Amino acid sequence: MIVAHTVAEVRNVRWEDPLLSWGLVPTMGFLHEGHISLVNQAREGNERVAVSIFVNPTQFAVDEDLSTYPRSLKRDLALLEEAGCDLVFVPADGEMYPDGFQTAVSVTDITQQLEGASRPTHFGGVTTVVTKLFNIVQPTRAYFGQKDAQQTIVLKQMVRDLNLNLELIVCPTKRDADGVAMSSRNAYLTAEQRQQAPVLYKALSAGKAAIQAGEQSAEAVRQRMRGLIEGQPLAKIDYVSVANGRSLEELELIEGEVLLSTAVFFGNTRLIDNVLVSL
Ligand code: AMP
Repeated sequence: MIVAHTVAEVRNVRWEDPLLSWGLVPTMGFLHEGHISLVNQAREGNERVAVSIFVNPTQFAVDEDLSTYPRSLKRDLALLEEAGCDLVFVPADGEMYPDGFQTAVSVTDITQQLEGASRPTHFGGVTTVVTKLFNIVQPTRAYFGQKDAQQTIVLKQMVRDLNLNLELIVCPTKRDADGVAMSSRNAYLTAEQRQQAPVLYKALSAGKAAIQAGEQSAEAVRQRMRGLIEGQPLAKIDYVSVANGRSLEELELIEGEVLLSTAVFFGNTRLIDNVLVSL
């Protein structure tokens, strides 16, 4: 496994044999089984696998957790070696954003709701850094988790709009045994907060069950999910959404592909989760 710190090193490895297919898994490190499941899927679908580890400063707002974001490069590299990764790209901030950097990629409409409403500068950072990673690695396929549902929709739109020459593949959310979606940010939770964290997936599952049992009012589904989350004293709701799974518009009437999603604070830690329901 080659560990590259510069764009030039990545290019050298990538173009040694131009005919090979490459899968790319962009990450911010502090890897868990969710990330490794993406690597496994990339390995199955491609001859070579590249993973990037970069805590991208431009997708964090000034009051967010950039400085405390958990990092464990040595452990991450060991996990990636074991998973059969071929190339890890670990750039310094200055390699990605050299002095004088002044370009941004933005997706306008489907970045406004949900995560974009709570974190207005977030997706601009994501779309710009992912475009750079795509251009640096030039993967055949790129792998993202359903855990970040809106991110997958935004990036698919970007790939389509900019005619990016790759296939974007969305992988299912990996969960702990109690249903909590794996996340690097789970490391921030106290024992008591961690005990209450399963409520996100419980609420989403209850919403899904209500829809499958015939509930037609989106507001009734939202209320049901809110009620469950509010039952946990340490949980503070940021949003609970029942939206069209493509446009992300909030629904009144349940129909088509529905994205149930929520963001919940436990102290300063913000957890997100979602489930898709197709009728
Ligand atoms: P992150 O390091 O949090 O930026 O995540 C890197 C990639 O891993 C993103 O595409 C995430 O959606 C994906 N990911 C994060 N957590 C999970 C999970 N629990 N299951 C599947 N994919 C995940």
